[in-house]
Amino acid sequence: MNSAVSRDQTAPGLSVANLILEPSSRTRCSFELAEQRLQVEHLTIIEGSSIIKGETLTDTARTLAAMGVNTFVLRHPDVGAPERLASAMGGAHVVNAGDGAGEHPTQGLLDLLTLRRYWGSIEGRTVLIVGDIVHSRVARSNYHGLTTLGGSVMFCGPESLLPLPDEFPEAKISSDLDAALERCDAVMALRIQRERLAHDEVCPDGETFRRQYGLTVDRVTRLRSDVPILHPGPFNRDVEVDSAVADSDRTLIWSQVTAGVAIRMALLVRLSEVRRELGLAAP
Ligand code: ASP
Repeated sequence: MNSAVSRDQTAPGLSVANLILEPSSRTRCSFELAEQRLQVEHLTIIEGSSIIKGETLTDTARTLAAMGVNTFVLRHPDVGAPERLASAMGGAHVVNAGDGAGEHPTQGLLDLLTLRRYWGSIEGRTVLIVGDIVHSRVARSNYHGLTTLGGSVMFCGPESLLPLPDEFPEAKISSDLDAALERCDAVMALRIQRERLAHDEVCPDGETFRRQYGLTVDRVTRLRSDVPILHPGPFNRDVEVDSAVADSDRTLIWSQVTAGVAIRMALLVRLSEVRRELGLAAP
């Protein structure tokens, strides 16, 4: 197993429900694998499941808590849903697995782990995040993580998909990709979150986006050779990244996925320790 947590590690006392109420592949699968590898009792409810038809999320969670579930991994389309569930559920743990355009903390952590493994330290490094920043929870969580560890963040993308500077006081924000690429130590491409666009929101089509903001073979050839390329996935070949770039050894895309299992295992181990420290009962 290629992860930071050993085969023998367990996370006793946890009973997890993965509540996946918005599409997810990498995050759901890596939480499930992390749970299996730690021998943690778990189940997964996905969007559209009959348990949520007409029932509030809190009532679904209460139902599961009555069966002994004490940890909820929540992927939800609404910003703030994990906090709301946590305050409704008292003693249960709630892990944010992505809340709308809000935050995606475990993605931020797995990106930090990937970059720390690559560089040794984040301190003093500049990460350029390119694409649809305004709708991206990944951009938001990376900003907090990278700046906390002494890194710098540059955001770049079409004007209509850039955030207001107030939200990210420490970030440099620009729509000139070629200039930004000259000043970064790593570049992370993001897809346009078409599912989050309001119906009248202006946004470039795939070909225009590729021409202006894509990591094309031509751009990557001009990029310093030690600058790695990241993408949280799912990526659109020949839109955010050219196919040849995605398949080249310039990317850390698959290392990010691998780090995702390790981070989620580490998180569950920590939650198990917290339960033990607090003297909370096993299910
Ligand atoms: N997988 C990431 C997320 O859930 C990125 C994306 O969907 O574009 O936010």
